[in-house]
Amino acid sequence: MNSPALDLLARTVRDVPDFPKPGILFKDIMPILADPPAFRASIDLFAEAISPLRVDKIVGIDARGFLFGAALAYKLGLGFIPVRKKGKLPGKTEAVAYTLEYGESTVEMLSDALREGEKVVLIDDLLATGGTAAAAIKLIEKLGGQPLAALFLIELEFLHGRQLLGDVPVTALLKY
Ligand code: AMP
Repeated sequence: MNSPALDLLARTVRDVPDFPKPGILFKDIMPILADPPAFRASIDLFAEAISPLRVDKIVGIDARGFLFGAALAYKLGLGFIPVRKKGKLPGKTEAVAYTLEYGESTVEMLSDALREGEKVVLIDDLLATGGTAAAAIKLIEKLGGQPLAALFLIELEFLHGRQLLGDVPVTALLKY
């Protein structure tokens, strides 16, 4: 991949120690959105990563996956579909529960958000343990969608999250 663009992204992500709790190094991607060349580079790199694929929909994960996913969908002329945290979507939904470090969480999509066989690319800002993305992939499959790839701005490789994503190919722009 284009390394000046990756260098720009790596320089623009902000590390926040001990957020949201002690011992967590939070990777804040918001400075990328605030910097036009960096934001453009991130979307261009995501588009390049999936350029060989024939994609029908971009599916973004609540909430930072919406920011990159919607811009990527616009660039590629595709529709964008949100995976939301429980209780936010109006109408009939499908849900998948998953385990967090402490406790449980549930993600939802509208039951009719995808058509049978639609080819989907999943996107989020960061892959940590992989629990959230794995739940989103299950949800896409429950709705009849076919997950072709998963895109992340950042992968925390030491957490081995990609192992939870089965055979869905993972692309991360920055790895730590
Ligand atoms: P996980 O389910 O463990 O892969 O966690 C992924 C979700 O949690 C993503 O939506 C991230 O936005 C968020 N997240 C987890 N760890 C971090 C971190 N160190 N810095 C920023 N966001 C994080």
